[in-house]
Amino acid sequence: AAVAEEPITPPVQIDHTQLLINGEFVDSASGKTFPTYDPRTGEVIAQVAEGHAEDINRAVSAARKAFDEGPWPKMTAYERSRILLRFADLVEKHSNEIAALETWNNGKPYEQAAMAELPMLVRLFHYYAGWADKIHGLTCPADGPYHVQTLHEPIGVAGQIIPWNFPLLMFAWKVGPALACGNTIVLKTAEQTPLTALYVAKLFHEAGLPPGVLNIVSGFGPTAGAALASHMDVDKLAFTGSTDTGKIVLELAAKSNLKPVTLELGGKSPFIICEDADIDNAVELAHFALFFNQGQCCCAGSRTFVHERIYDEFLEKAKARAMKRVVGDPFKKGVEQGPQIDSEQFEKVLRYIRSGIESNATLECGGGRLGSKGFYIQPTVFSNVQDDMLIAQDEIFGPVQSILKFNDIGDVIKRANATRYGLAAGVFTSNLDTANTISRALKAGTVWVNCFDVFDAAIPFGGYKMSGIGREKGIYSLNNYLQVKAVVTPLKNP
Ligand code: ADP
Repeated sequence: AAVAEEPITPPVQIDHTQLLINGEFVDSASGKTFPTYDPRTGEVIAQVAEGHAEDINRAVSAARKAFDEGPWPKMTAYERSRILLRFADLVEKHSNEIAALETWNNGKPYEQAAMAELPMLVRLFHYYAGWADKIHGLTCPADGPYHVQTLHEPIGVAGQIIPWNFPLLMFAWKVGPALACGNTIVLKTAEQTPLTALYVAKLFHEAGLPPGVLNIVSGFGPTAGAALASHMDVDKLAFTGSTDTGKIVLELAAKSNLKPVTLELGGKSPFIICEDADIDNAVELAHFALFFNQGQCCCAGSRTFVHERIYDEFLEKAKARAMKRVVGDPFKKGVEQGPQIDSEQFEKVLRYIRSGIESNATLECGGGRLGSKGFYIQPTVFSNVQDDMLIAQDEIFGPVQSILKFNDIGDVIKRANATRYGLAAGVFTSNLDTANTISRALKAGTVWVNCFDVFDAAIPFGGYKMSGIGREKGIYSLNNYLQVKAVVTPLKNP
């Protein structure tokens, strides 16, 4: 792997570090701030207003007022749709600066932020703008002289809590459907990555979004996040993050006002490579499935199951591919992997690597820090990984590939499903029957066949088991943000 070099100056300046409440950038009530960092160096890049319960209260009041008194839910659906479209166009116009800010605060390669994350955000808002004026209820036949109709109404004030691994995409998955359905929002960003959501929220107001419809509170989980999850005047909660925190917010929601909760949580996704697979393609895809975004993907293909007949060749090629991976300053052209997000994640990944070595998995390459500053980790491959090892069970969230051997389809299906998670899975085979058998048997919210990490605004995403509750994106996300009201009227002359 290439060694990290001197950091390049990011081509963007930081304009917004305050909370966004009722259409205005304001300090937190306490006046407190917290530092946000550049993962390339660990240096502070800005001080950001730190929201607490009092700020969440202010933001919820603004969202409540914008919902109850309008203009947002009272605007025509077409007008709301136009604002979403204008916002997407403004993001597209500024996408180079926004991608630079994302890379600066998160460490992901600039080319990936600019060429994947930004276009996906734009596409998603175009997609949900299309839904805004196509949401309607039904008329229902009933036994009796009644006229029965259902109204699909926005649910109210949505509280949304997002993580740091895809700050903008998570913003889009949450905000797009909620606004399309006519809700108002209080969004809490991850404490590691507060900057890009503030930047794009400013553009939303330029696009004509009325004040109070989208409020953004930066801050920490146990303070700002918990205040949002337990707020009595928040009507719906959507959360993406770890399974442990998902349990906490679900409990806070239940103990407060029973707001419905959607959760998108962790994973330990299997990637199954059958004996008839094209090995070179499988190697490349399995590499991408795990190492993409520094391994910081909830759906990362983190258990690579390889059929014993092709195991040796696959292993040799997977190792060679990992050793060729270009790691370095994420602003540099051609860099495939930047630093991990922060020292906590960096230390956690290194602990898992040590655990792999101690449990006698074979370290094929990598295994340590890269360079001497920032949070860079060498692309790491373990072979001879057994199901009961910690590295095969826990979500590592880093550039560590675990390769396991199998010899029977029925057996590998059982092993793939023997996890508390069920977010995603990959199957690699040239046999249609094998693809069908495996994809139907896997307990996972997404199964990618001969591909991986294919995301689209229209494709639903979410988890079985402890990977979550509910689905985001596509038509499925709309239900999360709508109430159904049945209106029943007697018919005088049926
Ligand atoms: P990670 O371990 O990937 O940082 P977390 O689940 O801790 O994942 O964080 C995801 C989001 O949840 C972040 O915005 C974080 O601030 C928030 N969060 C963390 N703890 C809590 C909590 N106790 N209540 C509400 N939100 C929380």
